[in-house]
Amino acid sequence: MVYMETYLMKQREILLDESYDVIVVGGGPAGCTAAAAAAREGARTLLIEGTGSLGGMGTSGLVPAWCPFSDKEKMVYRGLAARVFETLKAQMPHVRTDAMDWVPIDPEKLKVVYDDLVTEAGADVLFLTSLAQVETDDEGNITALVVLNKSGLQAFLAAVYIDCTGDGDVAAWAGAEYHKGDEVTGELQPATHCFILGNVDEYAYLNGQMLYAGNPLSPIHEVVKSGNYPLIPDTHLCNNLVAPRAVGFNAGHLWGVDNTDSQSVSRALIQGRRMAAAYRDMLAAEHPAGFSNAYIMSTGTLMGTRESRRITGDYILTVEDYVERRSFEDEICRNSYFIDVHGTEKEQKSGNTPSIELYGPGESHGIPYRCLTPRGLRNVLVAGRSISCERKVLGSVRVMPVCLAMGEAAGIAAALAASGNQGDVHKVDVHVLRDRLREEGAYLPAYPAETAPSSIA
Ligand SMILES: Cc1cc2nc3c(=O)[nH]c(=O)nc-3n(C[C@H](O)[C@H](O)[C@H](O)COP(=O)(O)OP(=O)(O)OC[C@H]3O[C@@H](n4cnc5c(N)ncnc54)[C@H](O)[C@@H]3O)c2cc1C
Repeated sequence: MVYMETYLMKQREILLDESYDVIVVGGGPAGCTAAAAAAREGARTLLIEGTGSLGGMGTSGLVPAWCPFSDKEKMVYRGLAARVFETLKAQMPHVRTDAMDWVPIDPEKLKVVYDDLVTEAGADVLFLTSLAQVETDDEGNITALVVLNKSGLQAFLAAVYIDCTGDGDVAAWAGAEYHKGDEVTGELQPATHCFILGNVDEYAYLNGQMLYAGNPLSPIHEVVKSGNYPLIPDTHLCNNLVAPRAVGFNAGHLWGVDNTDSQSVSRALIQGRRMAAAYRDMLAAEHPAGFSNAYIMSTGTLMGTRESRRITGDYILTVEDYVERRSFEDEICRNSYFIDVHGTEKEQKSGNTPSIELYGPGESHGIPYRCLTPRGLRNVLVAGRSISCERKVLGSVRVMPVCLAMGEAAGIAAALAASGNQGDVHKVDVHVLRDRLREEGAYLPAYPAETAPSSIA
């Protein structure tokens, strides 16, 4: 497909809904907690989601496990994040009740956990609805969102909008500055199309040779060396028992996939499904005790995207902030996950991956509220994968527990801005925001200038 011409659309009137204070676009981990938190604060809240279910990468993308919720000493992502995590874990009988790190995800159960979270808080949800246009004025306000669904085009007007699309669609389309990929080459972290194999022999899978590449005896090393499976690009092979006889895989990489380019994603989804079939055949041959009767139960409806736009905010979280374990007066959550950057094709294939793991037990850094407030836009917040940060730091803050925590902060901030600041997200009193987060259970140690709150463990 090559676009040679442009087409001038005719102006026409469409229906306008002005009944919401806060509109969240994107119902992944960040969007779900953002919508639930905004609604809990009393804001009339709408959550707009492109697919037919909530959860983003953790459900429609079939990412099979939560990154650690602990800093190896205590739980770091609390509040609504902990509620989502614990509610799902309670429905997974093979997971220890005190497990906090790398807990598997049953995507169908997680969808319902998110449905309940958002609707019980009082937010409305519009599924199968995509952003079509963002209308703005000269003062950096979004004046309306136009969306597309089976009812056609509709416009929505609210006081505050939260961009939780993971790709920064709302903010970028409203004119926000952003960065995408490597500063020099433009290269993005590779994508992975996750899938689930059913009818696995659980006993052989759990007790046989560990498939994960960290195990030097995993068959994946010989498989890649042999070249017998040309669709299996490298040794990346994360896997978890996600439901009875069902193993979820986050395996292999697809390079050059840009989630903001629909042709690129479409090609990648086709290739990803072919790769899933190759993994099934490889496992049936190389681990017959576990997988000889396995079949592909499901592949992601969303492409597993690790990186796209980073919206430039009032502050850009730096690698130095991460290395120095910095705290910020306006921080809205802590993060202890390592810098998990999946590398270029050459790096991944040679096993020379650029990840940095340096935090010891109990260590974390703060994420300032200013990373969620796009520079130059007045009534827009960003939460989740597309916050304002340097590329390497994205490798850490992009994971689901962090996105859940950021989303809750964005939801409360949006409600505060909508009720007290005529929608201006830059004028939110961060002390009020932090107090509300703590009241809801957030882990926010006192900044040196503050008196230590009694609730912090
Ligand atoms: C392959 C892979 C493996 C990963 N492994 C792990 C892991 O093991 N553990 C972990 O915790 N994290 C993991 N992550 C990271 C994590 O899953 C994501 O970074 C995280 O889900 C991002 O959350 P989010 O809410 O910002 O966006 P997403 O989860 O991407 O959700 C965004 C939502 O917005 C919707 N949306 C997007 N654009 C629009 C639009 N224009 N209109 C309407 N709706 C829209 C999407 O449909 C989606 O539901 C992994 C990611 C990938 C890709």
